[in-house]
Formats: sequence, structure tokens, C-alpha cells
Amino acid sequence: MERTFLAVKPDGVQRGLVGEIIRRLEAKGFTLVGLKLMKVSRELAEQHYDVHREKPFFPGLVEFITSGPVVAMVWEGEGVVASARKLIGATNPLTAEPGTIRGDFGVSVGRNLIHGSDAVETGRREIALWFKEEELVSWQPTLTSWLYE
Ligand code: ADP
Repeated sequence: MERTFLAVKPDGVQRGLVGEIIRRLEAKGFTLVGLKLMKVSRELAEQHYDVHREKPFFPGLVEFITSGPVVAMVWEGEGVVASARKLIGATNPLTAEPGTIRGDFGVSVGRNLIHGSDAVETGRREIALWFKEEELVSWQPTLTSWLYE
């Protein structure tokens, strides 16, 4: 089953949106298989955002992501990578569609509440970076037969 890595960023934690964000993913029908509240080290932040290393916003992004607790999560389900990106919305919350997490709760690209892997392969890399294998729980929700044909 496909998996993705999601993280509620420090602004989402500070604003008390952790429950709302988890609620939306649960209500959609995805399965939580990993969850932890953590302070992100500079090393992890830089590795996670390695593709943006040369961007002008990189130092501010690393500063921000290491500034307070983050809720790191792994979610599972058919097509979860692309679907979670849709639930999250566009990178800039001002242009993100209403109904998406960023569209409903954010106003600034540097405070856009949540990260979501952009492809299945990226998801694999990010899950391995953030979680140890033994921190992930494989389980079969009893609702599965009501969610999938
Ligand atoms: P996404 O998180 O939607 O996949 P990107 O991978 O393009 O977006 O960027 C990673 C993160 O870097 C964004 O979520 C945002 O927090 C930050 N970011 C991107 N572009 C900017 C920008 N122009 N100014 C400030 N921060 C930015």
C-alpha cells in the first residue's frame, strides 16, 4: 500500500491545527501508520529540504522548521501521495483553493502549515529520513472493506 510523509510545521502546531489536520486525513479514509511530535535538528531540516539548498528562502526555511515542535506523520492508502497533496493545497496559501488545508488556514508561503511528499519516490526517501522502521505500525483498519472495492 502506498505511503506518504506529512509534517505539521511549527506554525500549524502553534496554531492548534494538529487535530484538524489529522481529522481531515482520517475522514478522507487514509490510515495513520506513524506519528511523533519532535524538535527538528538543523541537520535533518537541511537534509529534508536538500533540493532547495540553493534557493534564497533556504536559510529562513531551515530556521523556521527548526524553531518549534513539528508533528511528523506517515499516512497510508491508495493514491495517498497525490491525494494528500490535493488536501494540502498549493504552496502559497493565498492562492490555495478554499477547502484545502493551506487554503482554509494560511496566508503566507513561509508559514504554510504542513509538508507533504510530492511523489511516491520522495515519500520513500522522506519516510526513511524521518522514521525508523520500528516506529511505523502496519495495521488493517476494520473499515477497509467500506473504503475500497
Ligand atoms: P511544497 O511544500 O508545496 O512542496 P516546495 O517544495 O516548492 O513546496 O517548497 C518547500 C517549502 O519551502 C514550502 O512549503 C514553503 O514553506 C517554502 N517556500 C517555498 N517557496 C518559498 C518562497 N518563495 N518564500 C518562502 N518560503 C518558500
